[in-house]
Amino acid sequence: MKSDDFRKHAHEFVDWMADYLDRVEDLPVRPQVEPGDILTRLPLEPPVEGESMDRIFQDFQSVILPGMTHWQHPNFHAYFPANSSRPSILAEMLTATLAAQCMSWETSPAATELEARALDWLRQMIGLPPDFTGSIQDTASTATLVAMVTARERATNYAVNDGGGSKVAMTAYCSVDAHSSVEKAAKIAGIGSSNLRRIPTDGSNAMVPRELAAAIATDIGAGRRPICVVATTGTTSVSGFDPIHDIAHITQKHDIWLHVDAAWAGSALILPEQRHLATGVDLADSFVFNPHKWLFTNFDCTAFYVRDVDALLNTFQMRPEYLRTRQDSHVTNYRDWGIQLGRRFRALKLWFVIRSYGVRGLQDKIRSHIQLAQSLAAEVETAADFELLTEPILGLLCFRYHPAGVDDRAKLDKLNEDLLHRLNDSGKVYVTHTRVRDAYAIRFVVGQTETTERHVRAAWTAIQQAATA
Ligand code: PLP
Repeated sequence: MKSDDFRKHAHEFVDWMADYLDRVEDLPVRPQVEPGDILTRLPLEPPVEGESMDRIFQDFQSVILPGMTHWQHPNFHAYFPANSSRPSILAEMLTATLAAQCMSWETSPAATELEARALDWLRQMIGLPPDFTGSIQDTASTATLVAMVTARERATNYAVNDGGGSKVAMTAYCSVDAHSSVEKAAKIAGIGSSNLRRIPTDGSNAMVPRELAAAIATDIGAGRRPICVVATTGTTSVSGFDPIHDIAHITQKHDIWLHVDAAWAGSALILPEQRHLATGVDLADSFVFNPHKWLFTNFDCTAFYVRDVDALLNTFQMRPEYLRTRQDSHVTNYRDWGIQLGRRFRALKLWFVIRSYGVRGLQDKIRSHIQLAQSLAAEVETAADFELLTEPILGLLCFRYHPAGVDDRAKLDKLNEDLLHRLNDSGKVYVTHTRVRDAYAIRFVVGQTETTERHVRAAWTAIQQAATA
């Protein structure tokens, strides 16, 4: 492609992008397609001759776009958000243009130093003490795996990295509500699913420290080696908060690595009034949260903090001849801070977002989402035919349709499942479900960048209409 053509198309695309963001709320949040619909519209063979960008772009609009779920739609209330923002998108355009591979300081000094600065800004913003040092990972799943492997190595004096396997069975711990990425990490780290102890939670969905202490004591008594506890700040299903402070007392007593998974809720810690949710986090060994979930920064951008950087480097550092540089002894080479060698320039978008909104602007946005979830909960609570199943916690609440006279559990579950499908098929709203005290529940999250009161009101109307229908 010639430079003039690139310029022409880039301008065209930017206009399209601005229009898309302005009109995304007019599109169905989730597409009405069946499995295979898009595939059948894509040629079986690759084109032998190059095609015009006009043609490719036309197909993007007519074939691809109708099959997309619009995560940036203000009525996207499913899962957890993966929000973005205009400043973040602008930064991503520059990142794509520079297309730098930022594995070492030398391969992009500014990328390395900006990552260090942006992650330290973020550390201050969420109230982590200065002895935590951050890096950007692709996902919270990867960060939890990195934490668990580092825990394993520190506990075995780096023997597993060296000799493979472990003579003593290793164990790890998390609550029954922890994210599936914790089990995946236990599998990959060689601990094994069956050696991951699922600790019960209490009525507020928080891990019970007494049960944790008992499980650890049993394992030690049986000659096993507890190496890692993963505490969650904001569990995925209903947003439980494990008591980090009490858990840390147990992990410190037994010299066990404590990792805190705050993938979603971590962004709310930029609000001083929400920091109580992570009391004791200063005692953890590592902490992860996703600015790509609720801090208006495009996927992928996971902030991962550790206190013992030496343990991390001793676990992951590789120094083949072809990667060595003159500065290695006095610079940060982020390739040694995790699994991947090649790294995108991800700090740029974070820097753009923090500078463009300012800390206050980011706080205002997150506060407004929390407020919107609370107002919706108040509406649900007063509606005769609905039942609030969880109090709103940050931007998340769970409820169900419960018309008078229908009390059979299976009937209620089916009614709510049908309601959810009807709603999502309408394209007006996208919500997902979970189970609360074994009841099928509609799980509603407020967290998309542009969601305002108008959108939440529209969602509530759509839910009530679908229920009545
Ligand atoms: N941890 C928690 C608590 C989550 O809710 C999620 C995803 O929703 C994850 C981890 C995994 O996040 P990622 O997609 O960044 O791996």
